[in-house]
Amino acid sequence: MSLPTTFGAALRHHAIERPDAIALRFAGRVTSYADVDAHADRVANALVAMELKKGDRIAYLGKNSDHSIELALGAARAGVVFVPIIWRLAAPEVAHILADSHAAALFVEPAFAAIGDAAAARGLAVRSMDEASYRAFRDAASATPPAVVVDEHDIVLQLYTSGTTGLPKGVMLSHANGIRQRANMIAAGIDWLLADPGDTTIIAMPYGHIGGVGVVLGAINSGQELIVHAEFDPGAVIDAVAEHRVRRLFLVPAAIGIMLQHPKAADADFSSIETLSYGASPIPLPLLQQAVARIGCGFVQVYGMTETWGAVVALPPEDHLPGREHKMTAAGKALPGVELRIIDAAGHMLPPDTIGEVAIRSPNNTPGYWNKPEETAKTLIGDGWLRTGDAGMLDAEGYLYIQDRIKDMIITGAENVYPAEVESAIYGHPAVADVAVIGVPDAKWGEAVKAIVVLKPGEQADADAIIAHARARIAGFKCPKSVDFVAALPRNPAGKILRRELRAPFWARHDRKVV
Ligand code: ATP
Ligand code: MG
Repeated sequence: MSLPTTFGAALRHHAIERPDAIALRFAGRVTSYADVDAHADRVANALVAMELKKGDRIAYLGKNSDHSIELALGAARAGVVFVPIIWRLAAPEVAHILADSHAAALFVEPAFAAIGDAAAARGLAVRSMDEASYRAFRDAASATPPAVVVDEHDIVLQLYTSGTTGLPKGVMLSHANGIRQRANMIAAGIDWLLADPGDTTIIAMPYGHIGGVGVVLGAINSGQELIVHAEFDPGAVIDAVAEHRVRRLFLVPAAIGIMLQHPKAADADFSSIETLSYGASPIPLPLLQQAVARIGCGFVQVYGMTETWGAVVALPPEDHLPGREHKMTAAGKALPGVELRIIDAAGHMLPPDTIGEVAIRSPNNTPGYWNKPEETAKTLIGDGWLRTGDAGMLDAEGYLYIQDRIKDMIITGAENVYPAEVESAIYGHPAVADVAVIGVPDAKWGEAVKAIVVLKPGEQADADAIIAHARARIAGFKCPKSVDFVAALPRNPAGKILRRELRAPFWARHDRKVV
């Protein structure tokens, strides 16, 4: 039997095969596949009744919820592009996304009503996602499948990149971008990343990121039971894992760190977890080792980006086992159907073991940025290849090692230093809770390495101790010349350190060269 090629079809497939199986659990409410399927049809018809046509866009501002997942699935069935917005964004950032995406309507949770009101005042159709309004909207429409024909090349999501390195861009993603990889993995027999129907998983990462909504749609595609958490709460994740015997979990490295520092972590029951996948930012090796020792399940690192619907590279559980530690600093190997290259600035391919820019060719690759032909041309460089903006290296066995973002590379003297490596070295210091490394202007070296450290509560360490710890682990030129201590680091909702923000005060009177 051929596999469904759209998310609407995948939902229908599971609703027919296993109508009573649980699709969504949220705040005590349990919804079966059959019901989610019918709700998605109603939502699709309600969107059509709003005169939304194929290719129109709707935005959603709110936390993760079962209803917002139904909204996304209804939009997918109506051929309407779903634009989930990170709820932590400030009002002007939300306004930018609403204007840039040309959203025809905004669905907003009551907690963010002020932003909704401002959008309504500018003439946008705004609908509340409060319980009663959403049910009225959904249930007034018919549950007969809508007459819209959606195919795999239609755009299903438009996600704004984290904006870690600049203004967010709208990444268009088709059904095929999100759905083909599973078929490729089934064909290749890669079971360690594939979930089975009925497997339980938790969605705790914010919906507006590919690690949120992309994971949700992927879970529906494979017929999983999704435990929806409005936002990441380490104690609630620990409890839900034990209560629902969760088998599959995706968390960003920062969330794993927070979870392991939670008081409940000490005697938590993680025994049901079969695979914990992690990615979206570099993971400090000491944190990974600690997690492997404490959680003891299969670990899978994933590497990818919004522009590739998340994971295109993965490090399998076997490369986290004793004896394979030398591979633990790799992001992994290309998933089936994915090709990787390391290229120079001119786009020429570099040999193995040479650091350059990572380029990807895969069915996951975005067709482009919405309304940004110049940005699209810089990223999609022809023949199906996408430039990632990440510095990396492939070894002779095809393992990809991500150094860091090219824009964050520190050039000190004639040497290149990648902050992630220095952060990983410092993270292992017993007094360190969190660390960021940046380049600051330096009269002699151009840039000098600076560490910004958060200490664990009640712990002490001075700059010399941090520098000495690094010096014992990495080359001298990579070690920080100075260390600042702060109470917390600026991170975006996906847990990424905002190095741009940390650098800004130091570079106010200098120009920073970016290669
Ligand atoms: P912007 O493009 O607006 O700056 P962003 O790149 O942070 O935002 P995402 O698409 O969410 O937005 O993140 C993708 C990036 O995350 C990758 O390009 C890479 O730098 C980083 N990343 C993802 N997975 C890994 C990983 N396993 N190891 C190291 N870095 C990773
Ligand atoms: Mg990016």
